[in-house]
Amino acid sequence: MKIAEIFYSIQGEGSLAGVPSVFVRSSGCNLRCSWCDTPYTSWRPEGTEMPIDAILSEVGQFPARHAVVTGGEPMIARGIGELTAGLRAAGMHVTIETAGTVFSDVSCDLMSISPKLANSIPEGEWARQHDRLRIQSDVLQRLMRVCGYQLKFVVAAPGDLDEIREIVKITNAETDRVILMPEGTDPVRLREKAAWIAEICKAEGFRYGPRLHVDIWGDRRGV
Ligand code: SF4
Repeated sequence: MKIAEIFYSIQGEGSLAGVPSVFVRSSGCNLRCSWCDTPYTSWRPEGTEMPIDAILSEVGQFPARHAVVTGGEPMIARGIGELTAGLRAAGMHVTIETAGTVFSDVSCDLMSISPKLANSIPEGEWARQHDRLRIQSDVLQRLMRVCGYQLKFVVAAPGDLDEIREIVKITNAETDRVILMPEGTDPVRLREKAAWIAEICKAEGFRYGPRLHVDIWGDRRGV
């Protein structure tokens, strides 16, 4: 599997925010979000091919019970099934972070799905493919049945709510598993959006999701 980085940090997003976790970040993505915060896994994928047993061995060096398999898009990473099975066999709680456009057989405890809204469409040659792929309702519903799930949305403007409501409706998601996070890679930009996103959450019954790693460390790699 092509790995961009393996590191120990705290989960910054979602229902397990704050939990110390080892992150295994695969490189390679089928989407190209305009605001991608890990362009070294999508726009300019970097990394090293690693055997699954070497990844498991490196994860085992850290004092963590939680593993987060992320990307890029981990569902297109070769060996994702073997990796997630190996992590669970080692007794770890496994979260998979995916954009929800591809299904793969995996073992996990939390399917953390972040469907990409229209605010993610890039300019240029990737625009059409990105827009065509970004919402796959049948894949979303299938992923939501694998294990516990959460739907995380990156929100850039109040107008994003219409699209969020539509996705929640077609997936029949429970509203308290829907998490809205402000778009941005610096704490000032996140704070600018926090108040009106919180009001949307109050009105709709969604959860407001902080991005703790940005608040604590800013736009840095490996945290
Ligand atoms: S799906 Fe994730 S990794 Fe891929 S381009 Fe979008 S934000 Fe980046």
